[in-house]
Amino acid sequence: MKLSISVVGTGRMGSALARALLQSGYRTTVWNRTKQKAEPLAALGATVAGSVLEAVNAAEIIIVNVSDYQASAVLRDDAVASAIRGKLIVELTSGTPHGAREAAEWFAAHGASYLDGAIMATPDFIGTDAGTILISGPRQAFDANEEMFRALGGNVQHVGEEPGRANALDSALLALMWGALFGTLHAIAVCQAEEIDLGELGRQWTAIAPVIDGLVADLIKRTDAGRFASDDETLSSISPHYGAFQHLLELMEARKIDRSVVDSYDAIFQRAIAAGHLHDDFAALSQFLESPDKRSLRSGPRGGSLLAG
Ligand code: NAP
Repeated sequence: MKLSISVVGTGRMGSALARALLQSGYRTTVWNRTKQKAEPLAALGATVAGSVLEAVNAAEIIIVNVSDYQASAVLRDDAVASAIRGKLIVELTSGTPHGAREAAEWFAAHGASYLDGAIMATPDFIGTDAGTILISGPRQAFDANEEMFRALGGNVQHVGEEPGRANALDSALLALMWGALFGTLHAIAVCQAEEIDLGELGRQWTAIAPVIDGLVADLIKRTDAGRFASDDETLSSISPHYGAFQHLLELMEARKIDRSVVDSYDAIFQRAIAAGHLHDDFAALSQFLESPDKRSLRSGPRGGSLLAG
């Protein structure tokens, strides 16, 4: 007999999670603050709970997916606290590593097991082989329920015992995504200012995408190995990047395109160059991302930056 699972929060994502569980044959109870949004799931076999307490009492595992950790406080309520003892809470709401650590402590203090996850997919990927969800927290709680996680996505991975890890990876991967998306906005603005049709941009992007993928993979690998000095395998040092980057700044200035985002890239380049890294591998820039406040705190007693070198 499959476990009973409750899904707290049936917005776009929570509904997709509940549908995937129902399709895999789990007895599924759902609760949503606005009850009407949970009701379509009843037609698929879900029980719609009238309160969070009822949803918690109905299941061994409670999956939470609401807008943020403030909203998931519906579970960290005096009226519900005694009912969660002995249950497994799986928090799939997006949040910070700190929020996950705080929640893990709260649930441990109230006798519940806690896994914290980050969904790296849109609702249409949930329940498919390509659905990716990162989970952190006690490995044994993940392993014991692997079948349930597989129902949510073919690529559900345990990424570590430390509860904040899935959310930290989420932010890291989204930083990568937004870098690409905001970069695309800049590319669009340049093409529009220069009257290049966006179909052409799309075609050229497809052609150079493998080059950029290669640069990203190389940057991660070299930074991990601390190989910042240029060597035979360096694809590009900071110097040619910085030269080409000046062309972009100049064009954006001439065409009155907002430079605030690219100016912050310029600041990182300049910090690295001032510290003597112009001819080092692009990966050397990874040492210059600390905020100026933290950098001045880390400066030595004679004002020499510990990062310079
Ligand atoms: P959504 O459709 O806007 O749903 C938000 C859910 O949160 C609704 O069930 C809403 O209830 C509930 N909620 C909000 N405030 C609440 C409160 N104070 N108390 C109780 N419930 C509250 O958003 P979504 O797309 O499903 O996203 C849900 C979570 O999944 C977010 O953390 C999001 O970052 C994450 N996620 C989403 C996607 C995606 O592609 N959609 C991808 C990855 C991660 P009501 O219906 O009553 O308003």
